[in-house]
Amino acid sequence: MNKREFIRYSALLAGGALTGGAFISCNPETGAERLKRSDGRLTLRFTPFTLRLKHAFTLSASSRTTTPVMLTEIEYNGITGYGEASMPPYLGESHETAARFLSAVDLTRFADPFLTEDIIAYIDSVMPGNYAAKASVDIALHDLTGKLAGEPCYRLFGLNPEKTPLTSFTIGLDTPEIVRQKVDEAAPYRILKVKLGRENDREMIDVIRSVTDKPLCADVNQGWKDREHALEMAHWLKEKGVVFLEQPLPGEQKEDLAWLTERSPIPIIGDEAIQNISDITDNREVYSGINIKLMKCGGMSTALKMIHVARALGLKVMIGCMTETSCAVTAAAQLSPLADWCDLDGNLLISNDPFDGLKIIDGKVTLPTRPGIGVIKSL
Ligand SMILES: [Mg+2]
Repeated sequence: MNKREFIRYSALLAGGALTGGAFISCNPETGAERLKRSDGRLTLRFTPFTLRLKHAFTLSASSRTTTPVMLTEIEYNGITGYGEASMPPYLGESHETAARFLSAVDLTRFADPFLTEDIIAYIDSVMPGNYAAKASVDIALHDLTGKLAGEPCYRLFGLNPEKTPLTSFTIGLDTPEIVRQKVDEAAPYRILKVKLGRENDREMIDVIRSVTDKPLCADVNQGWKDREHALEMAHWLKEKGVVFLEQPLPGEQKEDLAWLTERSPIPIIGDEAIQNISDITDNREVYSGINIKLMKCGGMSTALKMIHVARALGLKVMIGCMTETSCAVTAAAQLSPLADWCDLDGNLLISNDPFDGLKIIDGKVTLPTRPGIGVIKSL
């Protein structure tokens, strides 16, 4: 390098240093260009994990202290997207079924992670069912593409993070003493969710009402069988400040549920009966709204479609979760600006959460601003 060349080179360097990021952004490499030159392939990994519940989780028909989950990762060009399958026993999936499903998935056939629709269609074609396992791949893929794009998923969906709804905190069935303790623990929440469906339903509500006047929502988990009883309870619950009633009767009792929805003073929300898009259209006259969960429907892509179908049919939308880590809960929360209500407390019910993600601030879902689903590993 001669003296003249040295001066010119130094000037270029100085110009670059002075303009900082602007110098670099004169010729930015877009995500698409990066992909074109990439010879990367998608690689899927999975690890079984067992969640420990802070309190035994008691529904109208069962009780348990752990939940099996499968933690997934999809790696592409050194970037890793995180996903999760949560498998409460009543859904019929387990570590074994998820491992079998995920072992059969070959993502190395894909070179472009942004072909999300193609990849999700392939995942869906691998085996029927296995919705939680499918969700674990879908979530990891959304996390990965968000990270590659450098944007949180909610931004890629075009959603306003200010519009997230309040979330409820679930108070499970228990002795009056433990229920009082749980209500104290739920101090940061502005809505409480009560699990009903046993002999002591009115007692449960009265115990909660003796310690708080916060709005409540009630989830019967198909625990009642008689529509007249359900209607009588709906009126009583409204007087007690309950704002909606979730799956009061078994999903198969469609006529009874439609009868109840027509007469109930509070909205009737379908949960167990609503797994995917066809369930919404099949039950359009049966409920006032639906509860969407990633583990039931197979992930964020289908959940988003379900939200639009429900809205087109004039239904209310709730986004819920299972007991799961902050990974899957934060993934579901990415869609929550589109929901009327959400019930995203699954991560708070466990004592060994390996992720850090969404926060609940003054009872409202607050999304992380990090790219992808926005979680980081905390264990
Ligand atoms: Mg429910």
